[in-house]
Amino acid sequence: MSDAESRVHWDPQMETLPRADLRALQSDRLVRQVRRVYENSAFFKQFYDRAGVKPADVRGVQDLHKLPIMSKDDLREFRVASGDPFCGTLCVPRNQLYRVNKSTGTSGSPDVFGATRADFDQIADNFARMLWRVGLRPGHRTNNWLEAAMTWHGYSMTAEGARRLGATVFALEFDNRQVVPTNLELLAGVDFDSIFIYHPEIEIKYMREHDIVPTQVHPNLKFIYSAFLCTDARRTILERAWGVPYRNMGSSGDQYIPASECEFSAPALHFLEDQFLLEVVDSDTLESVEQGAEGELIVTNLWAEATPFLRYRMEDVVQIDESTCECGSTHARVNYRGRYAWSVLVGTNRVFSDDVENVLWTHPETEFAAYQLVKLRHQPQDELIVRTTVSEVSNTDELRTRLGNDLHDRLGVPAVVELVDASDIGIGTVKFARVTVRD
Ligand SMILES: [Zn+2]
Repeated sequence: MSDAESRVHWDPQMETLPRADLRALQSDRLVRQVRRVYENSAFFKQFYDRAGVKPADVRGVQDLHKLPIMSKDDLREFRVASGDPFCGTLCVPRNQLYRVNKSTGTSGSPDVFGATRADFDQIADNFARMLWRVGLRPGHRTNNWLEAAMTWHGYSMTAEGARRLGATVFALEFDNRQVVPTNLELLAGVDFDSIFIYHPEIEIKYMREHDIVPTQVHPNLKFIYSAFLCTDARRTILERAWGVPYRNMGSSGDQYIPASECEFSAPALHFLEDQFLLEVVDSDTLESVEQGAEGELIVTNLWAEATPFLRYRMEDVVQIDESTCECGSTHARVNYRGRYAWSVLVGTNRVFSDDVENVLWTHPETEFAAYQLVKLRHQPQDELIVRTTVSEVSNTDELRTRLGNDLHDRLGVPAVVELVDASDIGIGTVKFARVTVRD
């Protein structure tokens, strides 16, 4: 193994920068970005003028609080008024765009954003750093269904990141449900070092039905990885089915935000704080929470030329650890609790869909079940109400009681379970609405 391959970080100097130096770097980059967006983007000019703030007011990270926090709603409002698909955020002439991507639009219509050639190079480097942390190395062979089947998504740049660090990328899935047929059947013999998965339910079902053992097909397979919120229950199922460790990464395609686990941080994800400034605020008041407390993640893009968002609401509830990690990185580790929109308040306890999944998916009848939290219009509610699909079961009363008791024991709130058909809560093939509101 060469020196390069054995090193812990893709960019050791940046990854271990003392936090005081990191802070100074963030300050310089923040000042540049505030000036850039104010002088070049119609959205930010209007947004900051309304808030009465000028670029000269922000002289470093200590002044960040002077900038208003922006949300998806602010962007959509601007787009409706202006007709601009970039929502007024584009800071360069359109002919300087080297890449154009869009958001998934899970919570409304998608937004369009892009990258200049310099941005493209920076993204490739940032994603190489992220992928190095999950275990990708020069000479490795891996797949990338995002570049093959979802080029519109910002995270399709993970393929470019893998190439940047010297891996060979097979991007042949014509559909993101084809990860197993493509990489364990068509490409048997390629000797993959890692496989980028997407739909665990579909993939594991296919492997079981076709008696496929991944480590027999690819004897040097070292790990699998993906970019979704991964509960403990999901990780356990994945590692058992694939026979190798699972490594999580991913944050958001919208701002090409890379984040990934190291072997010590899991399930928390390291961010690149020289590239993104992180804050945690109370979702209702938008005031900063105490250091280390739980709240909504706010991200400021410190590098992009084309479409940087500053103080952008990510809608995820997180907790941040800024202490130096055992891997040597001084960059923050972010613990995801779940989506604020996918939570209900039971008494004084906030219960997230991930908490429920962690319980349901450990029961054989509800492994990979589609499920839903029922949110009563008036919060808080007295009990947790969970609707779930089940695989074939003879005694439904017994199952309902067992699941209800387990939810109660493990989450500490009264719980009732309703068994439903997939058609009652299903959207598409595997996506489902995790919360439904009831009067
Ligand atoms: Zn670490």
